[in-house]
Amino acid sequence: MENLLITNALILPMTEERDLFDGYVRVRDGRITEIGESAPRQAAPDEQVVDAKACVVMPGLVNAHTHLYQVLLRAVWEDLELMPWLKRIYGCARVLSPEHFYAGSLLGCVEAIRSGVTTVCEHNFLNPTSECASETIRAMQDSGLRAVFARTIMDSGEIVPECTKEKPEQAFRHIEAILAAHKADAQLSFMTGPNTPPINTTPALLREIRRFADDKALGISAHVAESKSVVEAVRSEHGKRGVVELLQQFAIPGKKSIFAHSVHVSTDEIDILKQTGTSVSHNPVSNMMLGDGVAPVVAMLREGVNVALGTDGAASNHSQDLFDTMKAASLLQKVHYQDAGVIKPYDVLRMATICGAKALGLENVCGTIEVGKRADLILINLDAVHIQPVNDLFSQIVHCAKASDVKSVIVNGEIVMRDRQLTRLDEAQVIAEAKAANRDLMERVSGLSF
Ligand SMILES: [Zn+2]
Repeated sequence: MENLLITNALILPMTEERDLFDGYVRVRDGRITEIGESAPRQAAPDEQVVDAKACVVMPGLVNAHTHLYQVLLRAVWEDLELMPWLKRIYGCARVLSPEHFYAGSLLGCVEAIRSGVTTVCEHNFLNPTSECASETIRAMQDSGLRAVFARTIMDSGEIVPECTKEKPEQAFRHIEAILAAHKADAQLSFMTGPNTPPINTTPALLREIRRFADDKALGISAHVAESKSVVEAVRSEHGKRGVVELLQQFAIPGKKSIFAHSVHVSTDEIDILKQTGTSVSHNPVSNMMLGDGVAPVVAMLREGVNVALGTDGAASNHSQDLFDTMKAASLLQKVHYQDAGVIKPYDVLRMATICGAKALGLENVCGTIEVGKRADLILINLDAVHIQPVNDLFSQIVHCAKASDVKSVIVNGEIVMRDRQLTRLDEAQVIAEAKAANRDLMERVSGLSF
C-alpha cells in the first residue's frame, strides 16, 4: 500500500464545518493521517507525492445503487415501461452465465472509476447459479473499488423465471457461504433484501429477510415504489396504500436499510422513512429513462431523510456516470418543484458522498476527508474549458464537471487511476472481453421469448 502526500490541492472535505481550503492530505497505510492548510513539511522518504495542481481534491463518489453487469444490456430494451422492461431483464436469468457477470461487472467498475466513483453498491438480484454472485464479487475486487454486495432474494412473481426464484432457506445458505468466503476482505461489505417487493416477494419472505438480516447484522437493500404499477400491485394484492407502508408491516425499514427509487411515496411514508432512519437511493436518470416519475427528494431532505445517489444499472441509465446523475438530480428537482433554488449544489454533492456512505453503513469509513477515515479520494481537474472560470465550485462540480475531468482516483490509499490511466487493469482488454460477453449474451437472448 502506497503512502501518499497530496500537495498543491484545493480541498473540499465535505464535512460542512470546514469549507474549501488550499492545503495537503497525507495518507498512510490506506488511512488519512494528516490534513493541513499550509504547505506540507517535506515528503517522507517512503511517501509518493501526488501533485494536485489545478485540481480539487474531494471524497470519492458513492454509487449507492447499481447492477454492474447491465452495462452489457445498454440500450437493448428502450421505450418500455417498468413492468415489460423488467420482464425482459428477469428473463435474462435463463441465459446469463457467470462469465457475463464477470466481464460486464468489470466494465461497469472501470466506468465507475473513470467517473470518480470509489464505492459502489451492487444490488444483485439474478442468481440462476451461485457463481453469478461470486463472479460479480470477483470483478469488484479485481477493480480495486470499495464495494457493497447486496445479495437480494426473489421467491415469487409471474415475470420471474423459475431458475432465479429461491426458497428463503436456500437463499440464506448461499448468502452465508458468500459471507464466510469473504470475511477477510475489509473493502467489501454485504447486505441482503427483497428485490422489488411485492411483485417478486411473498409476505413470508419479507418476514424471513428481517429475521435473517438481524441475525447476521446485515443491512437491507430493496427497490421501493419505483413506478405506479408497483404501488397498484400493493393496493390490489395487499390492501396497503403504498410499498413503504407494506414494508413497515414487516419491519423492513430501518437504520441499515436503503430503499432505491422511492418515487411514489406519500407524505406519511416519508414520515416512516424519517422515523425509522431508512435511507433512500435516488436514481434520477433511470427514473427518467423508464418514465417512472420524479422522487420527492426535496420533501425527503426537508424531513431529514438520508438521500444518496445511484445510477441504477446501465440497462435503464445507459451509463455508470455519477456526474450525469448529480446534474440530473439537481435539474429534475428544480423542474419538479418549478423552483430554481429548491435544491443546493452542496446538498447534491453531499448525496453523492457522505450521504451515500451513510446509506451503506460506511459513514465512519469514507464519504468525507477527515483524519482517521480511509483514503477514498478523487482529483478533479478544474482547468477545463467547460469549467473555467470558477465562480461557484459546488455548482460547477455538479453542473459543469464531467466524468472525464476526474484525473486520479484513490481507494483505500491505493491509486487505481493515475492521470486517467488505470493502474490495475488493462482497459482495452476489459472492453474486448465485455464485447465478447455481449455478443454471446445477445445471441442467447435472441432465442428467448418474452
Ligand atoms: Zn435497480
